[in-house]
Amino acid sequence: MSSSTVITNIAALVTNDPSLGDHSPLGLVRDAAVVIEGDRVAWTGESSKAPATDNRVDAGGRAVLPGFVDSHSHLLFAGDRTEEFNARMSGRPYSAGGIRTTVAATRAASDAELEASLTRYLAEALRQGTTTFETKSGYGLTTADESRALRVAARHTDEVTFLGAHIVAPELADDPAAYVDLVTGEMLDACAPHARWIDVFCEQGAFDGDQARAILTAGKAKGLHPRIHANQLSHGPGVQLAVELDAASADHCTHLTDADVDALAHSRTVATLLPGAEFSTRARWPDARRLIDAGATVALSTDCNPGSSFTSSVPFCIALAVRDMGMTPDEAVWSATAGGAAALRRDDVGRLSPGAYADLTLLDAPSHVHLAYRPGVPLVAGVWRRGVRKV
Ligand SMILES: [Zn+2]
Repeated sequence: MSSSTVITNIAALVTNDPSLGDHSPLGLVRDAAVVIEGDRVAWTGESSKAPATDNRVDAGGRAVLPGFVDSHSHLLFAGDRTEEFNARMSGRPYSAGGIRTTVAATRAASDAELEASLTRYLAEALRQGTTTFETKSGYGLTTADESRALRVAARHTDEVTFLGAHIVAPELADDPAAYVDLVTGEMLDACAPHARWIDVFCEQGAFDGDQARAILTAGKAKGLHPRIHANQLSHGPGVQLAVELDAASADHCTHLTDADVDALAHSRTVATLLPGAEFSTRARWPDARRLIDAGATVALSTDCNPGSSFTSSVPFCIALAVRDMGMTPDEAVWSATAGGAAALRRDDVGRLSPGAYADLTLLDAPSHVHLAYRPGVPLVAGVWRRGVRKV
């Protein structure tokens, strides 16, 4: 029998269960407690009604929310692109070709170097409250390099995504059809056993709609479920394709037509917004308000990668979303927790009600609103993952 712990004296508890507390989407409970048994939440409610437990933690009148669910990152990489960022901030626009720099460095790295880098960024994310993360391949672009990236990732998360179709491999730049054949053939065969998801960068300079459809359809036939980098740099077919293929998520969604917004609103494909990318490329912000008002489900994630968004901080993305994308603080916190879970089709994370994993973030603040109200301040004071205190 595993021991039980109550975290009590929580000034504001975000549960994301509308049947609790104030019955808002956040299911906000004031003067709350959470009971953890083993790796799960056993009870949530008002402190005065909490059942007896073996152990007791005093939250000290601070806020608790579900651990962040970062549903979009690219952490299997080596090398450094400081100079590219510096040049871009001096006036040059971002192009997808910058990925090649990381591909060369990643191919040259040993397995141990790749895993050490991944572990470092995961620890960094955990300290900032992230308890569930998805991560992708996409800097190997050969069968051997893609499959080893996925094997390394699978040692650290269940949410592993095969992104062989990040860009056309440099050695096949003159023959993209041959690269699509590789991605849908030998590379897919080698990668599918190590991944849950398949992703495509559907964009000018990467893969067009027909190529993306062929790649995702081949992945589905091998048991992988699609998600798509869609409509980041320009209007394109990505969002419509995501909805057509029942992708779990269309990611970026910066350039949307009314038809794109409507398609997302009438599907279960989540619109995952990645404001770190717009911040780091000085690009136009995605319009979260427009998506939410239309009825689409919105997730917020970091897109952590060494080129276009080198942040592992979900709190930073929440602050950007509130300041520049029309989200309320409540909506941004929901999107970074329950929204991320929806983008991964998970119901065991992103909420704090009985049965969910005991993944919790304690803030050094009386309210979750402080994540946007106090941007850039390291507010995360405690993190529990699977019932174990990690921070
Ligand atoms: Zn990405």
